[in-house]
Amino acid sequence: MALITCSKCGAKVSDHARYCIRCKTPTTPEICEMEAPKPAPLVSAPVSKRKAKTRKARQARLIQFIFGLIASFLILMVLITIGFFIANIVATFS
Ligand SMILES: [Zn+2]
Repeated sequence: MALITCSKCGAKVSDHARYCIRCKTPTTPEICEMEAPKPAPLVSAPVSKRKAKTRKARQARLIQFIFGLIASFLILMVLITIGFFIANIVATFS
């Protein structure tokens, strides 16, 4: 058990005490620093998850874009082929 100095009144306060025994100020900054890392991983975890989600969404969008390109290319090829067929038929009948 260590003693920390109250930032407001300078009293020696146990680092286990949440408030200064003299002025009732929350014991700072040691306690704050001790308590701060606790919610930090909780905050950082959803952020990384969100990042992964957005990365996945971006990948999905990219895949959709590539598939769209391939599909439009195939449609274009089919149209060109049909066009050539029609041109051939027109050429043979004329
Ligand atoms: Zn104090």
